[in-house]
Amino acid sequence: MNELQMNQNDGHGDGQPPNKVFCSECGHGMSPKAPNCPSCGAPNSAAMEPVSQKSMVPAALLCFFLGTFGIHRFYVGKIITGILMILTLGGLGIWVLINFVMIIVGSFRDKDGLPLRR
Ligand SMILES: [Zn+2]
Repeated sequence: MNELQMNQNDGHGDGQPPNKVFCSECGHGMSPKAPNCPSCGAPNSAAMEPVSQKSMVPAALLCFFLGTFGIHRFYVGKIITGILMILTLGGLGIWVLINFVMIIVGSFRDKDGLPLRR
């Protein structure tokens, strides 16, 4: 009778409440505040922890070209280990390589422990 009734969300149907997000892995609906998908356990991208102001791409480039001088560590604010990296020539390249991989896979963090922005 009254089509406007459609606007009232009954929790089923296609009317998706705005306070619901869908798992990028399995499409399961969940609360935006849920840290993980209750269905498959994938991390909820909408509830991701705050990210760093620094971005992954420049960090990766700096690490690749200037990693021996710890420039990527200065970039994310890790001054002390940046200096340490200069003194050790990037751990003779090994430390730089490890950092580069960490940046690429997204496990490199800034001085506040926040993951780099993608
Ligand atoms: Zn899922």
